[in-house]
Amino acid sequence: MLPTVSHGDGVWLYDTDGRAYLDGCSGAVNTNLGHGVREVTSRMREQMDAVCFAYRTQFTSQPLTELSRRLTELAPGSLGHVQYTNSGSEGIETALRLATLYHAEAYRPFKCTVLTEEPSYHGMTAGALAASGHPVRRRGLVPLLANQATVAKVRPRHGELRADVEQWERAIEEIRPHNLAAVVIEPVGGASSGAAVSDPAVLRRLRELADRHGFLLVADEVMSGLGRTGAWFGCDHAGVVPDIMVLGKGIAAGYAPLSAVLVRDEVAAAFDRPLSSVLFGHTMAGAPLAAAAGLATVEYLIAHDIPARVQRSGRHLRILLEHLAARHPVVRDVRGLGLQLALGLHADPARTPGVSLDLVTAARDQGLLLYPAGIDARTESVMVAPPLNSTEAELEELVLRLDRSLSSLVPDPAPQVRD
Ligand code: PMP
Repeated sequence: MLPTVSHGDGVWLYDTDGRAYLDGCSGAVNTNLGHGVREVTSRMREQMDAVCFAYRTQFTSQPLTELSRRLTELAPGSLGHVQYTNSGSEGIETALRLATLYHAEAYRPFKCTVLTEEPSYHGMTAGALAASGHPVRRRGLVPLLANQATVAKVRPRHGELRADVEQWERAIEEIRPHNLAAVVIEPVGGASSGAAVSDPAVLRRLRELADRHGFLLVADEVMSGLGRTGAWFGCDHAGVVPDIMVLGKGIAAGYAPLSAVLVRDEVAAAFDRPLSSVLFGHTMAGAPLAAAAGLATVEYLIAHDIPARVQRSGRHLRILLEHLAARHPVVRDVRGLGLQLALGLHADPARTPGVSLDLVTAARDQGLLLYPAGIDARTESVMVAPPLNSTEAELEELVLRLDRSLSSLVPDPAPQVRD
């Protein structure tokens, strides 16, 4: 039985029985500012009193225009066009449509294969799930997914979490680059791999290959975008500018449903009409209320210099987690970047997901929220990804509760997977 939420305050959530939960994973790694932030809620209240909804083909709105200006200024390179959607999945779906239409526009309809990685997670809508290397979430859906985008997957070497440069090169060669519409990559993984970090050399090589062969590089920054990793965007760590960047989750930090697809000017210029009329869209996308939440969130991130703060707090949290890992044999490793971190766990291959769910339950009993991740025994993990404005004292409280949760897993399972 789930508890009934009563209210939230900063990193804390309370249920109707009066129990407090420290949010160690920002909901689903999306409530990046914590709860009840006045800078956001008061802007939303003002917007609600003015107007909640105006249809995107009939009006734009001041918060939407201003949000687009902020996002395109923050984004690297010439990611100068923004299309709004309501969820990360819709954003990925839109990116897949755009990549397909981009090649169709130039009479290259054969360029239709989408290459992604396994493990990866890009969303629950059919196209996004077809592009996801997440067998657990795809289970039973093959009849639906088989008719979706032509998708190929690159897989890491045995025992590794992410594919290396050579494996990506080989996968692209096997598909034949002239068939390739797009490569979709998570700079730092989430639900599938538990914060496995892409080698910057992979991102740089994919950028080179995209330029050489004319496919689009799509960065899924739904989780990693907007400060989470200690940079504005996960791709910034590699100095790479993708052709399409999808933002979600933290863009409105859980205050409203919102996501955004940023598109390079060169890609938008391939069409003789505005992207909005190329892509069509969703009824609620970019409505004024969600735009006000997004704008207030992004302005908060800028005003508090959140990426720099996350570099510091991420280092601090990581050190504390490394200490935990040394004390609890069930912990296999600590991974991630900034505050997109995870504890890799020694899992039982016969029972995945197993230990991650046990730990999430144990943590809940200690008043701590964690997010389970992984697709198999090698990737099974829990994400530790608190709000980006957490204080040091809050991070220490998180680790204290996590320590108790790990201790209460009796007995700590012996290491099962060796490589
Ligand atoms: N891409 C990534 C990297 C994600 O982490 C998620 C959500 N976990 C999605 C896409 C899908 O986003 P949503 O749940 O908002 O549809």
